[in-house]
Amino acid sequence: MFAADFGHLADEIKRAEDSGADMLHIDVMDATFVPNLGFGPSFVALAKKTTQLPLNVHLMMTRPDGMVKAFADAGADSIQIHVEASCNVTETLKEIRTHGVSPGIVLNPLTPYTAALPYLSLADECLQMMVFPGYGGQSFMPAPLPKIRQIREAATAAGKSDFMIMVDGGIDRNSIGRCAEAGANAFVAGTALFSKQDMKTEISQFRALASDAFRT
Ligand code: ZN
Repeated sequence: MFAADFGHLADEIKRAEDSGADMLHIDVMDATFVPNLGFGPSFVALAKKTTQLPLNVHLMMTRPDGMVKAFADAGADSIQIHVEASCNVTETLKEIRTHGVSPGIVLNPLTPYTAALPYLSLADECLQMMVFPGYGGQSFMPAPLPKIRQIREAATAAGKSDFMIMVDGGIDRNSIGRCAEAGANAFVAGTALFSKQDMKTEISQFRALASDAFRT
């Protein structure tokens, strides 16, 4: 949603829904973990009132632990926290679950995949950043691609065949297939979708490119 037209956020949510998006990805930034400020719980509550789509809330926060309840109460369907955050990641993932929300972990582009392994059993999804988090419109980085494959293999070995591996940052027609081929099965796109007049065609193109390339 960070790439949407901020003057018409409710309309942009509807446009994504009508164009065939599977979920909404909401970036929360605290100006400490990343050098930017992003959406808060009041925006999540607005999105909840506006759409039936699941709300995927990505907390780019040094201390996400203190905000879990606020985002859960606002209507988040999943809450993703960074393994690099300065909190007890295990306890925070458990807390997310106690609110009936799906817990997710996030890795920055250069964080080794092994940092995800202690949390695979607690999380329903892993978000791999393909750019440095904090602002939209950055170019895709291929360096994290091998980590997607390694996390997919670890999840499969742990019996989590339906584990969601989501990629975030620089996702467009050129990069989506490479991520799917590596084992990603969910794709966050901001600028590449919201900048298009015809978002519906773009989403169906993305879906076709991803399903052609995906392998487990
Ligand atoms: Zn994000």
